[in-house]
Amino acid sequence: MTITAETRLVGLFGYPVGHSLSPAMHNAAFAALGLNLRYVAFPVPPEHLADAVRALRALSFRGVNVTIPHKVAIVPFLDALDEEARAIGAVNTVIVEADGRLVGTNTDGRGYVRSLLEETGVDLAAQRVLILGAGGAARAVAISLARCGAPRIAIANRTPEKAAELAAHVASYADAWAVPPERLADAVREATLLVNTTSVGMVPHADETPLPPEWLHDGLVVSDLVYRPLKTRLLREAEARGLVTHGGLGMLIHQGALAFERWTGRSAPVALMRDAALRALAAEKEGKDC
Ligand code: NAP
Repeated sequence: MTITAETRLVGLFGYPVGHSLSPAMHNAAFAALGLNLRYVAFPVPPEHLADAVRALRALSFRGVNVTIPHKVAIVPFLDALDEEARAIGAVNTVIVEADGRLVGTNTDGRGYVRSLLEETGVDLAAQRVLILGAGGAARAVAISLARCGAPRIAIANRTPEKAAELAAHVASYADAWAVPPERLADAVREATLLVNTTSVGMVPHADETPLPPEWLHDGLVVSDLVYRPLKTRLLREAEARGLVTHGGLGMLIHQGALAFERWTGRSAPVALMRDAALRALAAEKEGKDC
């Protein structure tokens, strides 16, 4: 589609943004639906975040996604947060309303839950969840799992203080507690849904895994937020044991689809967005092989 005088922008504010799959995903969706919008990734250094947010209104953006390191820092520059963003305490999507108001939401956690339910069919109300990690992604996932009905959520992290802090926050929505490192094996044994939200296993360290494979047990559903590679060592070892697994790409697609729906008021073409993201990942890999 040609860029015209009517073309409006959406995009991504992060630092860096070079590896983002979102431009490929959203631009494919805009083209398919004939929407005169373009998605551009903007590397915004922290000291320019306030100026970049002001520009959203001045330049008639429809909105932006927000990624590391701006998800919390952007909050004071917005006019309002919706309930999801308030509960998570961070923003991954900004909507520029018709009256110019900047509203922050967070689609990471709901994107994760949508993808988990779509790909595994688990009954959240019956799960004993163990989350590995206590960073930004863990926060969104833990809060959304709790708000969507997971009643018991244990959190284990390399830095135990952060697990305790996150558990205290999630405790407003579910029975939540921090797992001391020496009790991790027991916590895995007691869990029915294991969610890796750490970066362990992500390229260039794809040979790493957060748990010894012998800790995986029958009936455990294993979910990993990492999508580079699409199938992490943790997921390969779980599959080899015959367990139900869930990779990180679905979360990326669904958080994007939810943002797309907020910006456009249209249903997101989810399958097409997934194909576009997979093509971009494949192109990335080819580029590296050359
Ligand atoms: P973050 O805020 O920096 O948190 C990183 C987490 O990983 C922390 O809990 C950290 O523990 C832990 N960690 C890092 N290296 C570790 C190691 N060697 N051993 C044990 N724990 C380690 O990052 P984030 O934004 O939460 O992202 C975490 C992962 O989720 C990344 O791989 C990211 O690509 C993925 N992610 C995927 C999606 C998706 O759409 N699928 C969305 C967001 C994030 P400490 O607290 O001890 O440092």
